[in-house]
Amino acid sequence: MATKKLILVVIDGLTPSMLEDTLERGTAPALALLSEHGRYRRAISTFPSLTPVCLSALATGAHPDVHEIPHLVWYHRGEKRLVEYGSSFGAVLAAGAKQSLVDTIYGLNASHLGRNAVTVYEALEDAGLTAAAINITCYRGRHAHRPTVPFLTRPAHGPKRFFFYNLFESDVTGAPLSVRNRPRGTIDAYAAAVGRWLVTRDGFDFLVYYLSDYDYASHAQGPDAAHAALARCDDAVGALIEAAGGADQFLERYAVILCADHGQTTVSESTRLEEVFPDARVTASNRAGMVYTDADPGELALRLDGNGAVDVVLWREGEEAVARRDGAELRFTPSGTSGDASILDHPGGLERAWAALANPNAGELIVSAAAGWEFADLARRHHSGGGSHGSLLAGDSEVPMLVVGLETLPGSIVEVMPAVLGHFGVAAPPYARTLVRAP
Ligand SMILES: [Zn+2]
Repeated sequence: MATKKLILVVIDGLTPSMLEDTLERGTAPALALLSEHGRYRRAISTFPSLTPVCLSALATGAHPDVHEIPHLVWYHRGEKRLVEYGSSFGAVLAAGAKQSLVDTIYGLNASHLGRNAVTVYEALEDAGLTAAAINITCYRGRHAHRPTVPFLTRPAHGPKRFFFYNLFESDVTGAPLSVRNRPRGTIDAYAAAVGRWLVTRDGFDFLVYYLSDYDYASHAQGPDAAHAALARCDDAVGALIEAAGGADQFLERYAVILCADHGQTTVSESTRLEEVFPDARVTASNRAGMVYTDADPGELALRLDGNGAVDVVLWREGEEAVARRDGAELRFTPSGTSGDASILDHPGGLERAWAALANPNAGELIVSAAAGWEFADLARRHHSGGGSHGSLLAGDSEVPMLVVGLETLPGSIVEVMPAVLGHFGVAAPPYARTLVRAP
């Protein structure tokens, strides 16, 4: 049997409970079709569970120790400046901040993404396959694409079929402008128009279909309330099915992986880590913060004892890492632990905490927020009363994982890229965690 083409659908910020509930209530026909023909589990994200970190994990099959994207906002030691990708690319475009635009469009892929990481697009296209990416901010590939707008001058290097918010379009599809009306889902409407075009022309072996609007709605309305946004995601998936000529033809032609990049939890309070560390450089946003300092990080960590906004604080001490919660400590390496193991009993806690600290771009301290709390960002923005994510806690870290026509069922977002390569018989990079077959 010929290998089916494969579509990776990423719904930003979709929680497992929201998808499970929607499937139970039967209000999402396209997602229900995939569910009926597929296998499902809850899987784990990476840490910090923030979009640029997670999309890079999906695209490279690596945690931040390899892909090196540490946070939404971080301090670039080499260039002695802050890098801020924005909470979503839509937010960056809407804000129009020039440096953020340049960092998000070019910097993340052209210089911040680790040299030792291999993207799914690079691996597949090196093997002679055609990859396509719609709107995903981690897109590094071998093909140079000229921008379609005058305010950008440099080409971006992506997969052969590359569509990025009307700024780069490898093919003329007639899709409408993507940032017209974010709250009403115009970015995903753009994605759907391009996706329909690609499926109609059978223009790829592998497609990443990234739907970002759900996260935006869920931040505003709270994690289990964005039903209208999920209905639009269902429409966007339905557009692909329709373009293929209906359910049977779609399932005949395509295998599918559908997942989220991270979860979301309800937040009702916010605080500023800058007030705790006025003598250090703080980069914080959503539910994770980092502190860049020349001082002893273990000393600085003591300041967070008894701070209700903080779940766990992490730092390196020589060959070991330390996790501290309310005065108790756990010392750990990839091969063992000593101390109070309950401090990192989060999903994949030890592995994710280690990988976050092993990222050369991370701060000396990494702070994971307590339930209900958010760290206000540089502009003092937060989502109090809505949803947020970024921490090690389960609600931020669990994602739905649904596969159709695939031999493996990834248990982590870092297992998605090797699963895609495995589907096409392409070898995974040496760092990647591969699954032989589904449990
Ligand atoms: Zn978000």
